Amino acid sequence: MAISIPLCFANRHDPVRSDVTWDGISYVGTCKNCGMQIRRKKRHLWKLDDHKKSDG
Ligand SMILES: [Zn+2]
Repeated sequence: MAISIPLCFANRHDPVRSDVTWDGISYVGTCKNCGMQIRRKKRHLWKLDDHKKSDG
């Protein structure tokens, strides 16, 4: 059994490479494991994007 435990439960996500974009502040993308919107905090460290856009 391969050791590939999704770390989403620990707020450690893995982006879909082809879906990563630069939003002017940091890299954002979609987690390939849970499908949530994520934001790169630093190299190899992706967290849930907690920035809510409330302009509407
Ligand atoms: Zn995830």
